[in-house]
Amino acid sequence: MFLKGKSAVVTGSTSGIGLAYARAFAAEGANVVINGFGKPEDIEAERAKIETEFGVKALYSPADMTKPAEIADMIKLAETSFNGPDILVNNAGIQFVSPIEDFPIEKWDQIIAINLSSAFHGIRAAIPGMKARKWGRIISTASAHSLVASPFKSAYVTAKHGIAGLTKTAALELATFGVTVNCISPGYVWTPLVEKQIPDTMKARNMTKEQVMNDVLLEAQPTKEFVTVEQVAALAVFLCGDAAKSITGANISMDGGWTAA
Ligand code: NAD
Repeated sequence: MFLKGKSAVVTGSTSGIGLAYARAFAAEGANVVINGFGKPEDIEAERAKIETEFGVKALYSPADMTKPAEIADMIKLAETSFNGPDILVNNAGIQFVSPIEDFPIEKWDQIIAINLSSAFHGIRAAIPGMKARKWGRIISTASAHSLVASPFKSAYVTAKHGIAGLTKTAALELATFGVTVNCISPGYVWTPLVEKQIPDTMKARNMTKEQVMNDVLLEAQPTKEFVTVEQVAALAVFLCGDAAKSITGANISMDGGWTAA
């Protein structure tokens, strides 16, 4: 329970990796602000479950990551409710796949806004409080695509490379204030998002589930195993501990060897 008395804001935490971060921080005693889209009853169920399971306070912020003013409001909510946030995780993200010449301009703008600019707005709003309290942990979910590219993912790869650059810059600016800034770069993580792609790909390519998983999804991942959301969340929890005090400006891969190749 080493995060008791601290609070965390996790963007895009109504499902997948974000929800795992929020639950892992709560398991260590932190109050959390969850955020993201989904059915109101599902979001409320996850929020209430965090409170009953871990005995912490959990709030929901509906902030849309394309809207800087709403992002500032989300940070304000953690400030007024919890005197935080002590931990900010920039995690919300979407994907769109298309050749550059056909890439819809509004999709490019949306991905840059959600996957990259939202992290700038969140960090910008959270810094004064973290500096004043002389403690902070800023973590962003980047991706193997912050280090290498794949065709047809121009906006996503650009945004994730940008996250790596923003991480280094913020780390340098905050180095003497007790605030560390890092990003985690997972390969393929088993989330509902990935699971949902399987039936369509099986149909489109006339493949078995195993073929889709090994030959399509895990083609680039040498371990041939998905990363789990719990593994990603455990790394984030480690980054919040005293043992990780000197880790800042880092882009930590968790990709089953993908970017070693
Ligand atoms: P997910 O779809 O399960 O979660 C995405 C979250 O972002 C959801 O809570 C969604 O509601 C939220 N979101 C989307 N648009 C938003 C907006 N405008 N405002 C606020 N919230 C918004 O996906 P995930 O796989 O858990 O992805 C989480 C992060 O991890 C993303 O940044 C993604 O790029 C990154 N990532 C995922 C994988 C993977 O294989 N799943 C690999 C590397 C990196």
